[in-house]
Amino acid sequence: MSDDNIMYDSPTEFLHEVAEKKGECVAQSVIPLDDGTYVCACSCEQWEVIAPDRWKGLDLARAHTGSL
Ligand SMILES: [Zn+2]
Repeated sequence: MSDDNIMYDSPTEFLHEVAEKKGECVAQSVIPLDDGTYVCACSCEQWEVIAPDRWKGLDLARAHTGSL
C-alpha cells in the first residue's frame, strides 16, 4: 500500500483511473455539487459521502484510506 493517494478535481480523470484500479483505494474524488456541498467517492466503490466543503471532503478521504 502506498501513501501516495491521488486527489482528482476532474470526474473524467477520476473515472479513467478508477476503470483501471477497480476495488482498490487508490484514488478519491471530491466533486462539487450544485447545492454547494461536495460528494466524496473512492475508487474502491465502497465509500461515498457528502461533505460540507472541499477541505472536509479531503479530510474524510484521508480518514477513509487511513493516511491521516
Ligand atoms: Zn476506498
